Amino acid sequence: MIIVMASRSKEDVDYVVSRVEALGYKAHLILGVERTVIAAVGDEREKFRLQALESLPHVEKVVPILKPFKLVGRELKKEDSVVEIGNTSVGGGNFCVMAGPCSVESHDQIIETAQVVKEAGATVLRGGAYKPRTSPYSFQGLEKEGLEFLAEARGTTGLPFVTEAITPEQVELVESYCDMLQVGARNMQNYGLLKAVGRAKKPVLLKRGMMSTINEFLMSAEYIMSEGNSQVVLCERGIRTFETETRNTLDLSAVPVIKKYSHLPIIVDPSHGTGHWDLVGPMAKAAVVAGADGLMIEVHPHPENAFSDGAQSLKPGHFSELMKEISELLKFVGKTL
Ligand code: PEP
Ligand code: MN
Repeated sequence: MIIVMASRSKEDVDYVVSRVEALGYKAHLILGVERTVIAAVGDEREKFRLQALESLPHVEKVVPILKPFKLVGRELKKEDSVVEIGNTSVGGGNFCVMAGPCSVESHDQIIETAQVVKEAGATVLRGGAYKPRTSPYSFQGLEKEGLEFLAEARGTTGLPFVTEAITPEQVELVESYCDMLQVGARNMQNYGLLKAVGRAKKPVLLKRGMMSTINEFLMSAEYIMSEGNSQVVLCERGIRTFETETRNTLDLSAVPVIKKYSHLPIIVDPSHGTGHWDLVGPMAKAAVVAGADGLMIEVHPHPENAFSDGAQSLKPGHFSELMKEISELLKFVGKTL
């Protein structure tokens, strides 16, 4: 239920929040520019008791939220959310480019990559220290040592970094190093992990599951937000279809659909979305025009030697050229890097 307040005074709002909580609901406060709204989230069966709060003097109206995703949806919060990632931000006209290798492979590899992506204009460094691999025999990541290298790369370049946690138990350690926690496509419906990152104090990058609908994607974001973490960025990274020319089918229509339903920023990953380095540029540019708030691009100084995803990784020179083209497009769509 959405409780639209007639009054903005703290005392009146606190009183209504206490009544909502007394009925067993979680109250999420949304302080809009024009009005204060309280989202009462909980068991729908008792909603008639919430509706009765309309008789309180400082309540304008109590209306149901129609979509199953409540905190993520635009019904509750009309304006675009801006999520802070270290010294940068994404959403509401702020475009971000997260770039770096698929996996952190060595000290020198991540430091060198961080420097080249920074020079080309990236705003966030990416790199996996814990890798969710299809085969248990493939490289699994440098783990804690990888996090240390990423932190050093941040120290030398000033770039905040995003990196993945693959189990709920890892969240605390990964959070202590990173600027943004990543939940990978394979874990989009790992509800224990979603709850754990929902309790974290760092922003979360949630990637769309390769077999998930947009509705399921938004419901996973709802899990994170319902635990108290409102700093969520969505990432479209391609879905599995019958097509075999590309590793996944990059669903760019998800961008305007999600913009319609949700206030959360959405970025696009054309690297995992296509699986081929030469398709990354065209799809990255298409994503900008489709309305994305940012990009995630795999870059490797020597893709031919990469431990994972070399075929879809851009060389520094290609990345730098692409960044110039993206800067031009950003003028056209009215966003700034
Ligand atoms: C990644 O970004 O490192 C990754 C593993 O991607 P995805 O979860 O989208 O497959
Ligand atoms: Mn990868």
